[in-house]
Amino acid sequence: MPLHIPAVGRRQFLTQSAAALAGLSILRIGYAAEGDQAVTLALLSDTHVPETPMVEARGVNMTANLQKAVEEINALPTKPAAVLFNGDCAYLKGLPRDYANFAQCVQPLIDTGQELHMTMGNHDNIPAFYGAMASQKPEQPLVESKHVGILETPYANIFLLDSLMTTNVVTGELGAAQLKWLSQALDAHANKPAVIMAHHTLDKSPPQVGKAISGLADTAELLELLHSKPHVKAYVFGHSHVWAHTHEGDLNLINLPACAYVFNEAQPNGWTLARVNEKGIEFELQAHDKSHKKHGQVFTVKWA
Ligand SMILES: [Zn+2]
Repeated sequence: MPLHIPAVGRRQFLTQSAAALAGLSILRIGYAAEGDQAVTLALLSDTHVPETPMVEARGVNMTANLQKAVEEINALPTKPAAVLFNGDCAYLKGLPRDYANFAQCVQPLIDTGQELHMTMGNHDNIPAFYGAMASQKPEQPLVESKHVGILETPYANIFLLDSLMTTNVVTGELGAAQLKWLSQALDAHANKPAVIMAHHTLDKSPPQVGKAISGLADTAELLELLHSKPHVKAYVFGHSHVWAHTHEGDLNLINLPACAYVFNEAQPNGWTLARVNEKGIEFELQAHDKSHKKHGQVFTVKWA
């Protein structure tokens, strides 16, 4: 469906809607793309930015990795409609100084007028995050005490969920209230394909005594919900620091690579360029190491 909105009207609309919705709740993005042009998004996950640029982990400087990704995004020939950070923005404990460093790293994106959105991972802390990035705090959260939102694009809606249970505890949880909201929000936006994004991996392994669940504690509830809505096409997540495309029935599972460090040396780190169009969504790996054999690999999710 080609949409032609005059530039001035479009800008006014975006300004008004952004102001009215105060940061992150329901936002229309990508309507500037002409005709059948794809809407592009830059996706980053697991940036793990520490309180000072000196801190390194697993042989990686996390601050430098994020700065490099930010430079690459700003150098893209087409400016993405939004830049999404899928959780674990902060290093480990979600400290105010982690977010101060994070905010400094992403400032060049803000300076070029980029739309930024974050989901919360197990190493994040919502009050500390809002403390450093006040514009991200909605006046009226869609789900109480949770950082969630909906991005409407011409071709699909992207639902940003909050799977943070307790800061620096590996287990994730959406909770009954968020799942109820998601179900209603999906029904209210059933006119376009839906992409669900949250930090945590799905975890279908049976609980073991004395061992914390490493993924989403309410995986079964989420999957039941997503499988009941045929317009949900993909679940996009991070957490495992792995780049992969797998399937769960009809649902595509897209595992975004970490921007920070990897747990397995064979895995690439970097970020992902997504292209949304009327046929589906493509995810293209932008590895930090351009000589990595998976750099440029594309995973495709078709709407039908
Ligand atoms: Zn992580």
